[in-house]
Amino acid sequence: MSVTEITHSEQLIALEERFGAHNYRPLDVVIERAEGVWVYDVDGERYLDCLAAYSAVNQGHCHPRILETLIQQAHKVTLTSRAFRNDQLALFYAELHELAGFDMALPMNSGAEAVETAVKAARKWGHKVRGIPDGKAEIIVCANNFHGRTVTIISFSTDQQYRDGFGPLTPGFTIIPYGDAKALREAITPNTCAFLVEPIQGEAGIIIPPDGFLKGAAAICREHRILLMCDEIQSGLGRTGKLFAYMHEDAKPDVLIIGKALSGGFYPVSAVLASKEVLGVFNPGDHGSTFGGNPLACAVARTALRVLIEEKLVERSAEMGTYFLNRLKTLRSPDLKEVRGRGLWIGIELHSAARPYCEALKDEGILCKETHDKVLRIAPPLTITREEIDWAFDRIRKVIERG
Ligand SMILES: *Cc1c(COP(=O)(O)O)cnc(C)c1O
Repeated sequence: MSVTEITHSEQLIALEERFGAHNYRPLDVVIERAEGVWVYDVDGERYLDCLAAYSAVNQGHCHPRILETLIQQAHKVTLTSRAFRNDQLALFYAELHELAGFDMALPMNSGAEAVETAVKAARKWGHKVRGIPDGKAEIIVCANNFHGRTVTIISFSTDQQYRDGFGPLTPGFTIIPYGDAKALREAITPNTCAFLVEPIQGEAGIIIPPDGFLKGAAAICREHRILLMCDEIQSGLGRTGKLFAYMHEDAKPDVLIIGKALSGGFYPVSAVLASKEVLGVFNPGDHGSTFGGNPLACAVARTALRVLIEEKLVERSAEMGTYFLNRLKTLRSPDLKEVRGRGLWIGIELHSAARPYCEALKDEGILCKETHDKVLRIAPPLTITREEIDWAFDRIRKVIERG
């Protein structure tokens, strides 16, 4: 191949393939900038982002208010460590309490770190409060879960690939089928301290459990005095048309885990929200993170939450999600198995691999990502307009109905 035939994108892709670990298989689009629901590649092509960084950019790419906060705070102070206090963290705590109604919060960075924090809190609560012998605590989780990628978290994944070769794994987890309250009841032992669950399973392919499952699970947990821990890292903060997905069933968990859109995509910010009884098990030195709760993260998260509320993005998600879902339900193709969703979180399940559809959609100017082989996930920023949905729908229809 002569040098003149190599485009800018191709060179960058070659560099990435040569020098980066191959732990992802991205679509071959090299994004250079973004605004709202649109992203632009290095060759100047425009795409509508229907992944929104796995729901981390619910507020839309490069939201101007969050950007302004990031810049302002970066000029003031970015990192103090938790060896000292900072103003933004205190305000962030108070605002999280007001928004979500939990006694306390513990800030971390990535989602996986927040899940790890919740696991540690549940185990310690089990021991200190419930009297479960140290080292014996059990946590019940669901098949096809996705909670992150650390060794402990993949230890209770049912995806063989996530675990393959990474042992020895962490014990202490019991797996039940997703959506099965009876199985939950039967899996509880005297050593069970918690049930960790996604209110809607995202990575598994937008799997919505049977009606009443979460509420039933909450009742079972209360009855047996075990903690209901909802991982709302992806489902939370408006994605499903409610502030948190548990609100569809009014099944408030004991522990709520959030991340992703908590920063509007500017910065890794996550948190575990819970009662004083649960987070109170942590004493100084028990747990921590150099970057967790830093003033830049907290300032960004405060504005990201404010944008979500003030721009009524939760209500938008419900309204636009219903509109988009109803349009997508009119699609007709022998390869189409099911279209389902809540809010702007829509799964198009196919009988064949979804990846070729993603490639075809990319060529039409829409970016989305297959999840679990046969599901196309449609999850644009919550700022998407009706006109943009119509634009996307025409292209999705063309690709799906062509097969
Ligand atoms: C993305 C995700 C995580 C992990 O978050 P990271 O920031 O990638 O570590 C955990 N749980 C759920 C439900 C997620 O969608």
